[in-house]
Amino acid sequence: VEANTFTGALLDRAFDKRRRDPAWLQAQRRHSAARAVVAGTAGLKVAGSHLDLAPLTSIIAPAFPEPVLLGLDDHGPLFAVDEDSPAPVLERPPMIGAGGRRAEPPPPAEGRLGLREAATTLSQADGGLAAYAAAILNWHRAHRYCPNCGAATEPQEGGLARSCPACGAQHHPRTDPVVIMLVTDGDRLLLGRQRPWPPGRYSALAGFVSPGESLEEAVAREVQEEAGVRVTAAIYMSSQPWPFPASLMLGFTCRWAGGELGGIDDELQDVRWFDRREVEAAAEEGGSEVWLQGSGDGGRLLLPPRSAIARRLIEGWLAGPELSLGQT
Ligand SMILES: [Zn+2]
Repeated sequence: VEANTFTGALLDRAFDKRRRDPAWLQAQRRHSAARAVVAGTAGLKVAGSHLDLAPLTSIIAPAFPEPVLLGLDDHGPLFAVDEDSPAPVLERPPMIGAGGRRAEPPPPAEGRLGLREAATTLSQADGGLAAYAAAILNWHRAHRYCPNCGAATEPQEGGLARSCPACGAQHHPRTDPVVIMLVTDGDRLLLGRQRPWPPGRYSALAGFVSPGESLEEAVAREVQEEAGVRVTAAIYMSSQPWPFPASLMLGFTCRWAGGELGGIDDELQDVRWFDRREVEAAAEEGGSEVWLQGSGDGGRLLLPPRSAIARRLIEGWLAGPELSLGQT
């Protein structure tokens, strides 16, 4: 099985007692082979089609906050540095290298890559590293103040936690779970489209998991809200980090269990059933890697990009057995 984009960072995250040892952390920072992923609002620093890892000593300046220790790879310690820090105190920080996100201009500079572009340009391992670095730097940007008491927080454990000196609260990086699901009914597949997408693009339904809800319940609720139908038999397929800014996409398939399409909520422009032939034809065409702008003619189905878990779910469904309608 092909791994999902944004997975596959090859490193030891050292997520153990080593991180809580100040002497060990200091030694990593001073290590002659210490390098850093450099990222900021303009994107990730790249050289050609791989991340441009700078020697840590060359980029540490008084203006930079403590670099985040991502972990150790075969060459030594690997850090992430937010090149835009320190940010103005009261301004809401933009996301790290989100390039291509709705209403944002594409990343401008040469030698920079937006995160979405990184998904299709970088190797599997570098894509995973990009996702990790962006997610953790985004978290630091948004958690400079304690959500409990409002005091300024301080990085701990090489940057994989923050603590509040005023109230003692410990804060850990967040990952927000999102369920993304294919609804199937024999050889029919239910897909939806959002307004900003290129003409003809349809993809899997998706939504955030709500507090106090199981993943299966989230799948059923989201499908009901977005398409007005009931589903059953949710089966977990695979997951994909989605650092825009901190999601984890949890991929499912589920079966239509009743109800007719209708009552579409504001998020979606349309939901439709597609038969296997239509989906097969769209998959064979390859389809655009472009996320938002695109050249679909509006008449034919345009599948999501290959770097999206939705596309992997659809390809997985196509690879499965052909069924006649109603036989599930
Ligand atoms: Zn506090």
